[in-house]
Amino acid sequence: MRKHIFQGLIRAPLTETAPSPDGATTAELAQAVERAARRRLGRSLSIRAVDGGSCNGCELEIHALNNAFYDLERFGLRFVASPRHADVLLVTGPLTRNMREALERTWRATPDPRWVVAVGDCAADGGMFADSPACVAGGVGAAVPVDLHIRGCPPRPMDLLRGLLALLQQQA
Ligand code: SF4
Repeated sequence: MRKHIFQGLIRAPLTETAPSPDGATTAELAQAVERAARRRLGRSLSIRAVDGGSCNGCELEIHALNNAFYDLERFGLRFVASPRHADVLLVTGPLTRNMREALERTWRATPDPRWVVAVGDCAADGGMFADSPACVAGGVGAAVPVDLHIRGCPPRPMDLLRGLLALLQQQA
């Protein structure tokens, strides 16, 4: 135990250098999503995140959209607490059997037009958990219709923004 404490004091933390996001590019992309949402819906985009049994890596990237750096609420994009107020479901994880019914009920509670974005490699096809008996075979698309996959493990916040923009443009 003492050895571990000592090593923790003298070793540098095992971490990677944070990427340096381009603030101007982020703002441009977020504004493009906001304009596309207003054209398509006549208002801002409301997003409901659904965790379908992920490792939480994808959630961290989704939450980053709301942090002080990305701060997407300044462009009108907002996360909502109820699917009844949402336009888009961002679904993460391989979709565990335990979460299947919850996802289906969430999808049914979302008003039309409702879009589903499968976030991360797991949501697309089960990813590294594809062979697990705890998961529904085929990922999120096995339970609800998916409009867009955003690949990555996990996808970065910029990838999420590009995906939302592509979704709105393909629906326009
Ligand atoms: S895609 Fe990667 S980060 Fe996202 S839930 Fe699966 S393992 Fe975790």
